[in-house]
Amino acid sequence: MEYRLNRRTGDKISIIGLGTSAISDNGIDEGVRILEKAYENGVNYFDLAGGKGELFEVFGKVFSAEKRRDVHYQLHFGAVYDKGKYGWSLNADAIKRNVERELGLLGTDYIDFGFIHCLDELTVWEMYKKRGIFSYLKELHEQGVVRNIGLSSHTPVVAEKIIEEAGVNMLMFSINPAYDYHHGNFANGTSEEREHLYRRCQRDGIGISVMKPYSGGQLLSDRQSIFGKALTEVQCLKYALDKPGVLTVLPGVSSIEQLDKVLHLLDATDEEKDYSIISKATPKEMAGNCVYCNHCAPCPAGINVGLVNKYFDLAKVGDEMAVSHYRNLEKHASDCISCGHCNTHCPFRVDQMTRMKEIGEYMGG
Ligand code: SF4
Ligand code: SF4
Repeated sequence: MEYRLNRRTGDKISIIGLGTSAISDNGIDEGVRILEKAYENGVNYFDLAGGKGELFEVFGKVFSAEKRRDVHYQLHFGAVYDKGKYGWSLNADAIKRNVERELGLLGTDYIDFGFIHCLDELTVWEMYKKRGIFSYLKELHEQGVVRNIGLSSHTPVVAEKIIEEAGVNMLMFSINPAYDYHHGNFANGTSEEREHLYRRCQRDGIGISVMKPYSGGQLLSDRQSIFGKALTEVQCLKYALDKPGVLTVLPGVSSIEQLDKVLHLLDATDEEKDYSIISKATPKEMAGNCVYCNHCAPCPAGINVGLVNKYFDLAKVGDEMAVSHYRNLEKHASDCISCGHCNTHCPFRVDQMTRMKEIGEYMGG
């Protein structure tokens, strides 16, 4: 397993996490087997806004006191299970009742990331504060029950505003190539607004955990994929993990077989991880933008083209860490010999030869 650092909290988070939308769909015992296998394979990050309330029981069975310290939970203040199934609520009493019950079922006395749950409108954020839900979350944070505050949202401008105000250390956001290219129910915001959010999180050390990496399963279907062909789980996960700021991806699984497809990311070949097929549906305004996929590799000068471009884009939004990472690279944009290999192999029509000159000038080498 590979781990990425949340710079604000110091937590090392596995690049593969799990969502729990369907964890008990094949019964509690299968849910237990999934979590045990995920844990054995180094998964240490779990989202707890699932489809059914029994998910807390499943986690309580697997992560007893000693294992609990090895894993991180995202628990949502606004997801309620009074009727056994997921419901969304802005009722502070219902939320308190649910959080207390969930802690009991989980057999834990702390929450790694207490999440402001699923806010896509600023008017609802105002209600969230007015009704005392945010103050309850902050109160638990001050008591040490909630270690960090998080936010889940699908809407970039709303997420940016709440991040600003609420001291968020982790953002759960819906990222996949369909949403980034304006397709699907949660394709909120323009491509620029979405990219701005990812880069801002990277710059400020706010970790992103990714929900809906398969666009609700549509990307895995030949018939429903906007790219005219199904993507694989590995391609979708790799796409999300290449976005700035992303620490972990949280696919939902309901069987060991589905978990195995997710874990395959860890030993997949470069060819299996290549998602350049998405270039077929790149919207006009996005053509020519580097998506850091490295489909153009190998560069005869030894430049990691995707990484050089990522650090450059981050440096432009003021990310000092990106500047120092760039300086530590073995090869820089100034090493480009203008051979044209990347230009002819880039499916996103990036004029990388010109860009390398621009990057070299901006980054001083
Ligand atoms: S230049 Fe094109 S192929 Fe190379 S990393 Fe960027 S988007 Fe991918
Ligand atoms: S043009 Fe420059 S960056 Fe692109 S492959 Fe050739 S040497 Fe590498």
